[in-house]
Amino acid sequence: MIDTEAKIRRVREVGPETVAVEIVSPDNFDPKPGQFVKVTAWVDGEHVPRFYTLSSPDAAETFEVTVEVESDGTLGPWLETASGESVRIEGPYGRAYYDGEPSTLVIAGGPGIGPAVGIGERAIADNNGVTIVFGGDEPPHRERLADLADAGAELRLTADIHAAVAETYTGDANVLVYGFQEFVTEALAAIEAAGGDPDDAGVENFG
Ligand SMILES: Cc1cc2nc3c(=O)[nH]c(=O)nc-3n(C[C@H](O)[C@H](O)[C@H](O)COP(=O)(O)OP(=O)(O)OC[C@H]3O[C@@H](n4cnc5c(N)ncnc54)[C@H](O)[C@@H]3O)c2cc1C
Repeated sequence: MIDTEAKIRRVREVGPETVAVEIVSPDNFDPKPGQFVKVTAWVDGEHVPRFYTLSSPDAAETFEVTVEVESDGTLGPWLETASGESVRIEGPYGRAYYDGEPSTLVIAGGPGIGPAVGIGERAIADNNGVTIVFGGDEPPHRERLADLADAGAELRLTADIHAAVAETYTGDANVLVYGFQEFVTEALAAIEAAGGDPDDAGVENFG
């Protein structure tokens, strides 16, 4: 667990209203793919803490979070132009993560595609199986998703996550869900409809 200042190395657009924020990894920061951190910055004189989930496969030299920027939000719009700024990083937190399982099913909505991509890259590097179901057909991180598909990951980009989960759910996979409340509710219902126990899934609810 760390609680320290870290520098934002780079911010780049990775999809509609979505940026990837690359942060220099503090010493002794060893998160698992899919865990999240608390990011705190001073915005217009206010101390603003928010949680963001790792979207890189590791945190070797830098780590990345993927942020959906709402124009009327607070930290999101600030992060969009924060290259070179420092933020406070606390974590890692969370029990929804990839830990070397032979088979993982990630069900992701919105910026939840970030952890899905990071987990996918780590699983493929480990020669493990990974399936990503994304709720929609215009995900951020298109290039990394294409590379994942080329490397053997199974991808379903669809508004109908019920059908996609029904087709890809297997009882022995590590099932992980990332997204905002409405999407999480839908994903858990899809897991149940596919014959799984939603309580067995690792869930990271973005609020
Ligand atoms: C465990 C966890 C992990 C998360 N991981 C991610 C992640 O990987 N990526 C990601 O993008 N998000 C993630 N989130 C969500 C993130 O922490 C923030 O909540 C999100 O980025 C919005 O923060 P903000 O400061 O930009 O917006 P906020 O200022 O918090 O506003 C949020 C929204 O509320 C509304 N709002 C704000 N102010 C007003 C107002 N005065 N009147 C009316 N409406 C208003 C707006 O629609 C605004 O967009 C995660 C959350 C949790 C709990």
